[in-house]
Amino acid sequence: MSQGRRDSAEIRTQLIREVETFLAGDPGVANLPEESSDDRFMELVQFQRRLNEKGLVVPAWPTDLGGRGIDVSDASVVSKALGRGGAPELINFVGTEVLAPALFKFAAKEDLVRWMPPMASAEEIWCQMFSEPDAGSDLTSLRTKAEWTTRGTWKVSGQKVWSTWAQFARWGLLLARTGIAESRHRGITAFVVDMHSDGVDVRPLRTMTGSSEFSEVYLDDLEIPDRSRIGEVDGGWTVALSVLNAERGPYAIRRAALIERSLTLALKKSATSNPDPLLRQEVVRAYIGCRLLEHRIEALVDQLSNGVTVGPESALTKLMMTNAEQQVSALRGALDGARLMADGDHSQSTVADEYLYSRAASIYGGSSEIQRNVIGERLLGLPRE
Ligand SMILES: Cc1cc2nc3c(=O)[nH]c(=O)nc-3n(C[C@H](O)[C@H](O)[C@H](O)COP(=O)(O)OP(=O)(O)OC[C@H]3O[C@@H](n4cnc5c(N)ncnc54)[C@H](O)[C@@H]3O)c2cc1C
Repeated sequence: MSQGRRDSAEIRTQLIREVETFLAGDPGVANLPEESSDDRFMELVQFQRRLNEKGLVVPAWPTDLGGRGIDVSDASVVSKALGRGGAPELINFVGTEVLAPALFKFAAKEDLVRWMPPMASAEEIWCQMFSEPDAGSDLTSLRTKAEWTTRGTWKVSGQKVWSTWAQFARWGLLLARTGIAESRHRGITAFVVDMHSDGVDVRPLRTMTGSSEFSEVYLDDLEIPDRSRIGEVDGGWTVALSVLNAERGPYAIRRAALIERSLTLALKKSATSNPDPLLRQEVVRAYIGCRLLEHRIEALVDQLSNGVTVGPESALTKLMMTNAEQQVSALRGALDGARLMADGDHSQSTVADEYLYSRAASIYGGSSEIQRNVIGERLLGLPRE
């Protein structure tokens, strides 16, 4: 074995040990009902803060921004070990997983120093304000407008929707129209918004799981300094693509670990519950879905570790993640049978929550139909519809 590979193996063993020690000593997160979203949210914030104190939230980030500066492939074992150990999803995942890669690429160093450490510790929550009531799959039709003022600032008005955890957010990455949709750069600019500013009104929406995970955000004459612009004026589409590629690609590394944990629980249950022949097929299908996802994640981690930018192939990752998540949660639901919905005991209804939430996987970050369009047009070169 070469020195480099031996070093990497030692780093990984050490990281796994650190995660296991942390989880063994940590009080974890109480199994609160979804209706008490705020309490649940605060518990998850505390969990991320404790995990970050041990350097286990963003180990691949540079050391001066809250990370350990280790290779992405070594860092990916942390996500797997956390998933295996039953740790919950990071509450500030929109920041650390979805927005951070674009901020690293487009934001100024002094802003990164200000923003990234409190993002990693979940002291400051981030949200993504891309979607609008009439602009979801087709983001280029967004209407929130940013106009240049004589004071050298931007005045923003419009409405965003489905912004995850916006009601708790300190910062948001906003896409707004600064030019015409037909322009070469599609006339969109990206800004970081201080969510505590005058002109920002956040109204939580309740989802079918019972929680208020996302919100509508009304922007009314919100004034943004030009230094909060991310990237070029009218160059926001490049920033948006970087965010979407992260949401469809690298975000799946952590998500896959949680799906794998659910699969393990489903396999345990199916081994003891003598499922009927149809259910046995579902067991095998879910298992294959997870193995496909695992191979896809390995390829992605290799790519990231070699410094290759993630492009439209992230649509493949997103689709495989969605399929695995929906297959596994449907299997767990089927194994529970009627108890899935009938049992009032919350420890049972985590399976119900997981099943209901899995429906969102084929919508957020771009629907499965859109991912298939990206695969057809950008990976296979099929003509556009
Ligand atoms: C849990 C969750 C969290 C989210 N968090 C955020 C967030 O934090 N920030 C944010 O900005 N947004 C967020 N979203 C919004 C999400 O990005 C959009 O819902 C998604 O892009 C789809 O847009 P839409 O809902 O407007 O549906 P539409 O775009 O109206 O699509 C409706 C249907 O038409 C299909 N369709 C549309 N266009 C095409 C096409 N060209 N070809 C084939 N089929 C097509 C779609 O697949 C879908 O089935 C979240 C959504 C969910 C479910």
